[in-house]
Amino acid sequence: MRPGKESIGNFIHGACGELDFCAVSVLNLNHDSYAGLAGRLNDIYSSDSPNFNEWPEYLKKSSGKRADPKNAFPWAKSLAIFAFPFHRIPVNRNFLPETTEDDLSGLVAGYAGRIDYHVFMEEQIAKFAVELKKLTGREIRTEICVDTKPIAEKSLAAFSGIGVIGLNSCILCKGEGSGTCLGVLALDIELPELEKPDFAAPCSTCGKCVEKCPTGAITGRPGEFKYRKCRSYLTMEKKGVLEKDECLMLGDWIFGCDICTSFCPGSHPLKPVKADLEWLLLENESIIRDVIKNTPLEYPGVKLLRRNALAVLGNRKSAIGKSLLAKVNIH
Ligand code: SF4
Ligand code: SF4
Repeated sequence: MRPGKESIGNFIHGACGELDFCAVSVLNLNHDSYAGLAGRLNDIYSSDSPNFNEWPEYLKKSSGKRADPKNAFPWAKSLAIFAFPFHRIPVNRNFLPETTEDDLSGLVAGYAGRIDYHVFMEEQIAKFAVELKKLTGREIRTEICVDTKPIAEKSLAAFSGIGVIGLNSCILCKGEGSGTCLGVLALDIELPELEKPDFAAPCSTCGKCVEKCPTGAITGRPGEFKYRKCRSYLTMEKKGVLEKDECLMLGDWIFGCDICTSFCPGSHPLKPVKADLEWLLLENESIIRDVIKNTPLEYPGVKLLRRNALAVLGNRKSAIGKSLLAKVNIH
């Protein structure tokens, strides 16, 4: 006998608890409720959106596709959307060499010092899919997406009730603040829609991230975020040379930034990694490539990390930093 909606719903909650996800939601793509969502996604991803010019190029280019998840999964009947807290992802023991010499260090967002969340999330969601197939006793077509297809994960997560998009543009989940990553499982069956967690983001009375963001990327106006001022954009997405004001905006950070998420109520702040800039700037490039392989640092790559490292040293203006800059120029 095939399991009923209630037992599938209970199974989803139980399996997600066992796999340590902090939230899960289901979105059926052929229901009336989805038509309303599709209209809202269209508004957000339209080139007339007030935020459009602020977006990074990759977002602009893929905005039409992002406006409807059916573009990515035309065969799918439902999506299960999962959130996992970064602080529960195991630490990556083979990461960049660190230094205790502050003047020669560059900060790396704490999540990058964990196992790559793309790999980790994909494995967790795959385990869920295997158990779901066992429960239903039938072949189900599935596809996992963790930043691998142009879909609007955050909007889908918010619309389906997994959490709320905060002023810092991250998804906030009950009990976890904004320190979570998202993944999506597309399925060719409908699943029972789940009860939404009782959660309201405290943004309207909090404003901590607006106060603490050092670059002015967070304006405090809901739905408005200055991507091009955010260190995550500047250190990873911005290609080529950094302008002078962009170098200054990097401060001490060579990859991402943890500040707004660490002040978000409920978050479990991760310690940033203090990467050794001397190693990053002087070590053989192929050795660095091996070290950052299968980590989030592979995305910007050695060239951008080194560009960021030079900007950080320039910001410090310390004697030891200047002497490293001189060595790099001779190298
Ligand atoms: S820090 Fe406060 S204002 Fe900012 S996203 Fe978190 S709850 Fe919202
Ligand atoms: S990641 Fe850093 S730079 Fe970007 S919005 Fe948050 S605090 Fe500002």
